[in-house]
Amino acid sequence: MRESAKIRRLVALFSRLPGVGEKTAQRYVLHLLTADPQISKDLGKELETLHDELRPCEKCGNVAEVIPGETPVTCAICKDGKRESKTLCVVGRVHDLLAIERTGAMRGRYFVLGRLLSPLEGIGPEDLPIPRLVQRIKDEGVTEVIVATPPSVDGEATALLLKRELGPLGVTMTRIASGVPHGGDLEYADPITMGRALAGRQSL
Ligand SMILES: [Zn+2]
Repeated sequence: MRESAKIRRLVALFSRLPGVGEKTAQRYVLHLLTADPQISKDLGKELETLHDELRPCEKCGNVAEVIPGETPVTCAICKDGKRESKTLCVVGRVHDLLAIERTGAMRGRYFVLGRLLSPLEGIGPEDLPIPRLVQRIKDEGVTEVIVATPPSVDGEATALLLKRELGPLGVTMTRIASGVPHGGDLEYADPITMGRALAGRQSL
């Protein structure tokens, strides 16, 4: 059977999502074709406005809802007045922030680096938003920085860089404990393991 150009276009688009190969992409497209047409319409509508309604939080890098007329764009955690502003948890990606949030054990706020130090991929210290992080620590009088980068080579290298850059500020620095498998992704750690890793954090 010759595929239509539209199916080919859709398969090519779905294939660009992480973890989706061509076969899975084709399954998605054929599924949508036979499922309730409303699903495709809703999906299209939500995707159309995705970048208008959601942006990175200007303070921490988490996902934030854009509220017309409200600037800067900040996320629900940064807006939450009940959060301790003296404790700042530094993570590599939003996925990691969400994994830690699921434990319910984090009472402070976050800072998302967006990437990890990776000499192999050519990502150096200057590619990380360190100056913005330093400014935030100073502005908010942060006293403890919890480094929650993953226990991988890049995650450890990033933790050491943070220690070097933030050490002179005189903040207490801790690193989440093991329990999260080495080389593992925080995103896949179950909330209990993640909660223990956070509770058992050690001085960096
Ligand atoms: Zn935020």
